[in-house]
Amino acid sequence: MSEETMSEPPDSHLGSDVFTYNGGRVDPGESANIRYGISETYLGDPVRIPVTVINGEHPGPTVFLSAAAHGDELNGIEVVREVAHDWDHSNLHGTLICLPVMNVPGFLAQERYLPIYDRDLNRSFPGREDSTSARRMAHQIYTNFIEPCDLGIDFHTSTRGRTNMLHVRADTSDQKVERLSRAFSSNVIIAGEGPSGTLRGEATSAGIPTITVEMGEAHRFQRQLIDRALTGVASVLAEFGLHPHSSVHWPGWRVIIDDAGEKTWLRADAGGIVDMKHSSGNLVREGETICVITNPFKEEDDIVTVEAPFTGLLVGVLENPVVYPGNPLCHLVGLSDTILNALERELERQDPFLETLE
Ligand SMILES: [Zn+2]
Repeated sequence: MSEETMSEPPDSHLGSDVFTYNGGRVDPGESANIRYGISETYLGDPVRIPVTVINGEHPGPTVFLSAAAHGDELNGIEVVREVAHDWDHSNLHGTLICLPVMNVPGFLAQERYLPIYDRDLNRSFPGREDSTSARRMAHQIYTNFIEPCDLGIDFHTSTRGRTNMLHVRADTSDQKVERLSRAFSSNVIIAGEGPSGTLRGEATSAGIPTITVEMGEAHRFQRQLIDRALTGVASVLAEFGLHPHSSVHWPGWRVIIDDAGEKTWLRADAGGIVDMKHSSGNLVREGETICVITNPFKEEDDIVTVEAPFTGLLVGVLENPVVYPGNPLCHLVGLSDTILNALERELERQDPFLETLE
């Protein structure tokens, strides 16, 4: 990355601008907690999402932080809430749009999808005014609170029963997205466009650089991951000048995984009960046992040992220890020698982040 790109602010709705949405405004130097109606229930009551808009006194970029597009993915909710309500924004240069719970019906039911024909809100962006219920909700969120932004971060966790080490997903072929993904300072970046209809994919292709942050498992607040993500948000706000006196964080080591790199979801070849020997974030050597699959009798003949096909990092592992043949066991990503050496040095220092990531 050149010095020029580092110092250049993104295309910005600069000026100490008033932030407006359908039905309201937030002036520079003010903040507002909004309950914004995006749909209606079977009883005709409004379905309203919580939104906090913090409009700084000083001009700067507009940034959205969003979570719970999948209703049971909770870690990001706490990240967004703490940024919105615990941080001091008295010297904010720009505007923060905080969307802690986008999929309110899914959140209330503690389910991933919208409980209306199991629709996926995060495949429904940018939405449409005259389409399905999911697309109408997405349209309300997108036009009011995403479109006015210069960049954004969407927080997710692994699906129920699995867990992820904290990592960023980003289309790093887009220079602005690459800058954002590096600024978040996670150790692992998985490069790729992302499926169509995702908030990050659609916002990015509309010129609003957006990354997804994956962290931990559904149905949990995982304090260490939340703290790590808050460091990432602070680093992004520093990089893009919203908190101009803060500094950008360097994570110590970084691996960008693209399509060229070795990576695989290892799947079970037998049904049974899984004894997982590792946590997400662990380094495993080629040939090392990752887990064993047994039946209820633990019969020797039926024990299946799953070994690492190459040396790599376990980005995701299963948490619910039962599988049918074909179910995913873990997400293993190969590492170059340079990264491997850097990672080993980190592990020798016993970085508590790597040791205890779950
Ligand atoms: Zn998700």
